[in-house]
Amino acid sequence: MSDADWPDWARAGYPHVWLPYAQMQTQPLPEAAISADGVRIKLSDGKDLVDGTSSWWTACHGYGHPHIIEKVTEQLNSMPHVMLGGFVHEPVLTLAKRLTDLLPGDLNHVFFSESGSVSVEISLKMAIQYWRNQGDKRRVKFISFRGGYHGDTMSAMSVCDPEEGMHKLFKGVILEQFVLDLPRDKAGFVGLESFLQREATRVAAVVLEPLVQAAGGMKFHTPEILAKIADTCRRYDVLLILDEIATGFGRTGSMFACEQADVIPDIMTLSKALTGGTMALAATVATDRVYDAFLSDDPSKGFMHGPTYTGNALACAAANASMDLFEQEDRLGQVALIERQLTSELADCSSLAGVTDVRVKGAIGVVQLDRIPDLNAMRRRFVAEGVWVRPFGDFVYLMPPLVIGAQDLTFLTKAVRTVLAEWVAER
Ligand SMILES: *Cc1c(COP(=O)(O)O)cnc(C)c1O
Repeated sequence: MSDADWPDWARAGYPHVWLPYAQMQTQPLPEAAISADGVRIKLSDGKDLVDGTSSWWTACHGYGHPHIIEKVTEQLNSMPHVMLGGFVHEPVLTLAKRLTDLLPGDLNHVFFSESGSVSVEISLKMAIQYWRNQGDKRRVKFISFRGGYHGDTMSAMSVCDPEEGMHKLFKGVILEQFVLDLPRDKAGFVGLESFLQREATRVAAVVLEPLVQAAGGMKFHTPEILAKIADTCRRYDVLLILDEIATGFGRTGSMFACEQADVIPDIMTLSKALTGGTMALAATVATDRVYDAFLSDDPSKGFMHGPTYTGNALACAAANASMDLFEQEDRLGQVALIERQLTSELADCSSLAGVTDVRVKGAIGVVQLDRIPDLNAMRRRFVAEGVWVRPFGDFVYLMPPLVIGAQDLTFLTKAVRTVLAEWVAER
């Protein structure tokens, strides 16, 4: 969008907002969105964009689903929020019960917060205190994997990929963890084993995004690898934290990615699609074993954490409505169709020069390039094609709302092929 197309409110406010992941001095002006409906985002100049990213993978039912609007409106009128320090309310308890019924195994205890990064912070703190409550003060480190992304707060950053996670910029400030190569073959697992043989008594937990390392590069690994990592954790008595913030709620083809490997983590983090893209909400879910380590006559063994908006009633109402939709509508069936269509329609991208890989998992399609010299320019080309696709690093990906129809999905994949063919021609 050019300055001339911007509405007055955008021109007046833009100098005062500080946007995410942005060099404010040089980045081009963002698009001014005025409404969103289904899989389309409307801009102030009247243009519609078909959404290929679900607003950072949140809007799984599309925008403005009438059922979520109805439930949130009801809650807004009765009680938007009340503190959980002393109160409980129906939306939060119903959601806790429903989530734990839906999750595999004995992931039975939900701690709510308001962002994915915070839910990860909570999981790390929970893992450390789990050991301390049993008298083990040595287990304070975490093992995580290159290519992983777990959020932007200080400890979440410490378990991210060192390159992507800005470790250089904050060297000496963020905690040093054990960030290892994700084991992908026999040698990799021998490496992980020998590392654990040396260090397991200092390790509180292994942290991993199951099946898809999303924001760190959209890299996939097999259920077998996930199962082997989980088994290794068990054998060395190290907790396993699975970060399902990106993969949860159907995105990889099952409700939760860990189900494809029959793995039950000790702690799981959820956010992004939890409210269907309407409100900020996150959850850290613990098994009985973890939860039980906090039960004691001693108050100091309780979990000392409490975000002001924890269990926000509006957000929980949105999440309950989103869970209704997963029950009433066949989202996983839709994901299977999206997977098939992405696979067939992105396949011929691999013949383009400079395309190094095309991969699809569930409702995630990735075209890996050898480089993208100007991400902003490519994003603008996508907008000109009428789609919202936000390439990053050296790849282009599609993670559309799970409700997207075949025609709209074809519109997205066509735009990807058109823009990439042009990019190849200009190389
Ligand atoms: C997005 C994301 C986070 C961080 O969530 P925020 O809500 O942005 O803080 C953490 N882990 C994973 C896997 C994510 O995709």
